[in-house]
Amino acid sequence: MRRFPAIDEFQIEVFREGELDEVRVLVELEDAAGVSRVREVLRASLGIRLEVVPVPLRSLSGFELKARRYVRVHQTSGTRGAPIRWLDTQESWEWWARCWGFVLRGAGVGPADRVFFPFSFSLFIGFWAGFEGARALGALAIPGGGQDSPTRLAWIETLGATVLVCTPSYALHLLEIARARSIDLAKLRVRTTVHAGEPGAGIPAVRARIEAGWGARAFDHAGMTEMGAYGYECAAQAGLHVTESEFIAEVVDPATGAPARDGELVLTNLGRVGSPIVRYRTGDHVRLAEAPCGCGRTFRRLEGGILGRLDDMLIVRGVNVFPTAIEGIVRRFVDLDEFQIEVFRAGEREEVRVLVELEDAAGASRVQEALRVGLGIRLEVATVPRGSLPRYELTRGPEVAPAGPLQRRSQFLRPSATIFCAT
Ligand SMILES: [Zn+2]
Repeated sequence: MRRFPAIDEFQIEVFREGELDEVRVLVELEDAAGVSRVREVLRASLGIRLEVVPVPLRSLSGFELKARRYVRVHQTSGTRGAPIRWLDTQESWEWWARCWGFVLRGAGVGPADRVFFPFSFSLFIGFWAGFEGARALGALAIPGGGQDSPTRLAWIETLGATVLVCTPSYALHLLEIARARSIDLAKLRVRTTVHAGEPGAGIPAVRARIEAGWGARAFDHAGMTEMGAYGYECAAQAGLHVTESEFIAEVVDPATGAPARDGELVLTNLGRVGSPIVRYRTGDHVRLAEAPCGCGRTFRRLEGGILGRLDDMLIVRGVNVFPTAIEGIVRRFVDLDEFQIEVFRAGEREEVRVLVELEDAAGASRVQEALRVGLGIRLEVATVPRGSLPRYELTRGPEVAPAGPLQRRSQFLRPSATIFCAT
């Protein structure tokens, strides 16, 4: 359609004729000859005759819920450009819930559990599907939207929540809030935390902090707004299982596209009939595990979970550095509340500065030394006052996107702790 510059906007309507799906194409085009040309080009390209209907100029918004089969609309947070809307049918929404069933069951969650979602239930898809998954599993799903963090902590206690589902950084943030109020979260009934949205829960140091603070076992899972919840941890916690009954997973060399064991994850979802995606290049760096998992599941595993973003990889003085590797080291310092990675250009080189919320300068040297030992490279580490860096919770929309151009692709809206500074 976009080959026709005279067409300002078009819309594809899908409707049912008896048992069959039919498609009608609406085009903002005023001349009849143009409409016949569109019909002919579609026939020649697709090998099928579609109904093409001219409509007045500016009558289509580009997003009309004309297709009556859709029951849900969500959108990405738009941390990189305009938000993208995604539609789900009844079937694909049930499918989302089924995919989350794998995630929750993998973490040992069952019908006896009370699952708390500190998440603002908005257009942003976030944990909506997780909520549906808990409901489908027969667990008690508790919406924790529209509340500040202290109120959420109070509800977790009052309602006896046994499971917490949120981003890793929000679980850490709740720990900070609890600490400031002398609340011992380990005394609450939460025994399992399930995370998404950021790679944090797959990073041992982050996981250890969450588990120690909450007195719970922390589980990771992987998903994307556009794809679905495709990977989860089992009790063995030996990487992420890919839910192969619902997704086809391939790993390719990002440069050549050839199959590889270590490379980019490419996914096809099998049940998202509302907005299917075929062979989607996720940009996620993964490695396939070779040995079978101790849990007995036969779904393939991604060793170490999502290892990082291929487009996040920084080359600092010739050394490949993933922000997740920096995070893994920085999070070992328990007196450090938050951190941020700044990437800037020094001449032709990319340089990295790590800002840490620490009170003493000696702490910064210890972080620098740990980074040097862990990464084999000396990075600048600067202290900033406590509470001065942005906190991320999946409940917030694009308004909390950090200042400055954010170069990361939104992987399930992972708010990035990495800031790319203007040069
Ligand atoms: Zn397993």
